Amino acid sequence: MHQPKFVMFFDHHTMKACPDVGHHLQADEFASSLQAAGVDLLGFHAKCNQGFCYFDTQIGNRHPSIPPGRDLFGEIVTACNQRGIAVTAYLNCGLSNEDAIRHPEWSMISPKGQLLRPDIYGIGWINPYMRTMCLNSPYRDYLMSLIKEVRDKYPVAGFLLDSFNGFPCICPYCIQEMQKQNLDWRNEEVLQKFGRSSALRLAEDISALLRPQENHLLVNFLGISPKDNARIGSYLECECLPTNPAWGYDYLPLTARYYRNLTSGPVLNMTGRFNDWGDFGSLRPQAAVEYDLFFGLANGMRPNIGDHFHPSGKLNRAALDRASRIYGKLRQYEPWFSDAKNLVDIGVVLPDVLRKSPTMVGATRMLSELKMQFDFIDADIDWSPYSLVILPDEVILDDRLAELVKKHLAAGKSLLATGRSGLNPEGSAFRFEREWGVKYLGECEHVPAFFRLTGEFAARVPDMPLATNTKGFSTEALPGSTVAGKVVAPYFNKHWDGVYSYFYAPPNQDTELPFMVLNSQCAYCPFPLFEAYYQQASVDLRTVLAIMLEHLLPKPLLVTDASLPSFARAFVSGKANQRIIHLLNYLPELRGKTLIVEEELPLSQVKLKLRLDGRPVNKVYIAPGKQPIPFSISEDYLSITVPEMRGYCMVVVEA
Ligand SMILES: [Zn+2]
Repeated sequence: MHQPKFVMFFDHHTMKACPDVGHHLQADEFASSLQAAGVDLLGFHAKCNQGFCYFDTQIGNRHPSIPPGRDLFGEIVTACNQRGIAVTAYLNCGLSNEDAIRHPEWSMISPKGQLLRPDIYGIGWINPYMRTMCLNSPYRDYLMSLIKEVRDKYPVAGFLLDSFNGFPCICPYCIQEMQKQNLDWRNEEVLQKFGRSSALRLAEDISALLRPQENHLLVNFLGISPKDNARIGSYLECECLPTNPAWGYDYLPLTARYYRNLTSGPVLNMTGRFNDWGDFGSLRPQAAVEYDLFFGLANGMRPNIGDHFHPSGKLNRAALDRASRIYGKLRQYEPWFSDAKNLVDIGVVLPDVLRKSPTMVGATRMLSELKMQFDFIDADIDWSPYSLVILPDEVILDDRLAELVKKHLAAGKSLLATGRSGLNPEGSAFRFEREWGVKYLGECEHVPAFFRLTGEFAARVPDMPLATNTKGFSTEALPGSTVAGKVVAPYFNKHWDGVYSYFYAPPNQDTELPFMVLNSQCAYCPFPLFEAYYQQASVDLRTVLAIMLEHLLPKPLLVTDASLPSFARAFVSGKANQRIIHLLNYLPELRGKTLIVEEELPLSQVKLKLRLDGRPVNKVYIAPGKQPIPFSISEDYLSITVPEMRGYCMVVVEA
């Protein structure tokens, strides 16, 4: 199987009205430009979402303006392969507009009876989803035959198969299938589930057709879950255009820490040179794209720059030159990025599937700002590498998770929980009450609730009742627990009493309700701390988390101070005799409606400490120039100061 290093993907959805598709394509010139940019894998359209094929098909709809005798896809595959560049074929599966026009009976019918779909994603009438394909109609066999045609005809390295959205459909094919399976098609939930299972079933059948493992093909299905992709595909791909608010800058940090534990195959990090798909005229600043790609590389993800291919085949030199400069820069670090694995202390358990929920975004931000090294995990992932497991806000302990928690604690390791995490499925009591150090009493009656830290911890936050920003739970400390903070009640809750609207609800009295409880192996906060941080980004709430972490993880892998700002990101990876510290100093800024990174930010005199776990150190240097930096070692920590950096900095510690 091709092991992707530097990837480019070209979107090529082409309207029927384009009069000159491929007229100016010179495949050799295109492939030479990719070669000059150091690209080793190209993703290119065999079939677009408009339903047109760019390969020499006997079955599908050739775009009407492709000159007779031309095979755009085939020419590109040949020219690329001659230069050592592998090509994956992109086929849109869920969308195929031209086929839907020719065969209206292949279209989905929405639960409201619509054939046209301006309702999808609320985009309106100008959107690629106006007609969506029913994956249970005869379109299914037609699509499979197109994929087979590409597989048999071209020496491709794999397939990127798009738009397995799994929308619900009530066309006659789906209704008949649901009736056969005794499913209540009038029930919206059943329809949703059936839509998703239809998409997954098609992906499974395509996987059986392509047999990615035996045939050494890179195969990924966009739209199905990463776990299903790990099972029936052969690599994972995170599609994320951070300038599109649906993804934003909080999505990649989630997937980066989850995907790497789901597969032993490659993980790609696809960003774009533009702000969104279909945005032909934007070229994001070089630093913006580098931030996305360095972030991925520091997490073991291979870079993929998304671009648009002009229908005529004319090359966009400005975009290619920028990609070439970016890859030229990234390539200098390749000896250290290659095969490095991330090293972490903490496993954060997903409350359900990986998604950009307030809890998950809050957790990612707080832990990243504190420079903690962590993975996202679930019950299917081995917990044994983690010395600390975090159950954020809403992790209910079913039998499977309870067993893992029990095993983790029995191994003498630590656990941090917040909010309702740790409750039994009935929501009536903590499954490990003694370890949590508190008894569950129910929902906290105070809204808004405030908190105050107590004892030695009081000095860590301002001396005033501080906002919790969320609704929490009432608990009672068990004997032997250290209560490090208490809930402060307001004069009254915010409410409407029929005459007065109690908008102003200041803090009044300290209560005995714990806000933070520390025990030998566990730390617990009865408020959903991570969601609270998402709501108001309270630095004081982050200090509460820091105190719990210091208690449970007194010797984290990486230690920094204010010389590395909160918005900077730090990762540690390792291989053979090397430990690698990745520092990223970029700051996405909201300019009007758009989050943008324009430049790399400078830093100087950055102080770092790296836990050595007993490993010797011979030299420390900054890559790629290998400038040595002085170091000292004390109590199993290496101490260094990075004299100067800008944007991305790689520090290499060698035994
Ligand atoms: Zn259908």
